[in-house]
Amino acid sequence: MKNQRKLIIITGPSGVGKGTVVKEILEKNNTFWLSISATTREPRIGEKDGREYYFLTKRKFREMIIKGLFLEWAEFAGNLYGTLEESVTKKINIGSIVILEIEVEGAKQVREKYPNTLSIFLLPPSKKELEKRIRNRATDNEESILRRLKRAEFEIDSSKEFDFAITNQNLDETVEEILELIKVSN
Ligand code: 5GP
Repeated sequence: MKNQRKLIIITGPSGVGKGTVVKEILEKNNTFWLSISATTREPRIGEKDGREYYFLTKRKFREMIIKGLFLEWAEFAGNLYGTLEESVTKKINIGSIVILEIEVEGAKQVREKYPNTLSIFLLPPSKKELEKRIRNRATDNEESILRRLKRAEFEIDSSKEFDFAITNQNLDETVEEILELIKVSN
């Protein structure tokens, strides 16, 4: 893949606000493209296949792993999530900046494969605030919330492995900081 700085990872624990931040970034710059991941998780109310995710069975997902179709994939809170390599390379080859909004393990795989990727880790202002955000989102059941919180501890510990760590205290400031980082690194 040429022009590897065209690949931007936004990672961090579930509930930190990655989705909101990325949505805002896309609204501010229409030359960016957000990769649509595949997942085996059940769609949440309002989610549409092919828009938020490609919702797949575990069997289909595993077939695609064997075929080598994923740029990266990881298990998260009992489900599989993965980035489709072909769609990402196609977009990069036509000059788009591609954003991956993914969890930490997958982000590490992408960095190993493409060391020149720009990786940004979003930190919550505090663990308490993270729990509040996950609970307020009200999209997950208690078991899933607890799994996500437990995993967040380990995820936050690995924030130093990424190029930049930004505390997501204020949406506008976080977005501006990320846009600036993308600008200076391209
Ligand atoms: P959710 O179930 O809340 O939509 O996503 C759970 C976690 O999986 C989030 O941290 C999200 O960023 C991450 N995720 C979404 N798509 C992918 C992907 O393609 N690969 C990896 N590794 N993680 C993903």
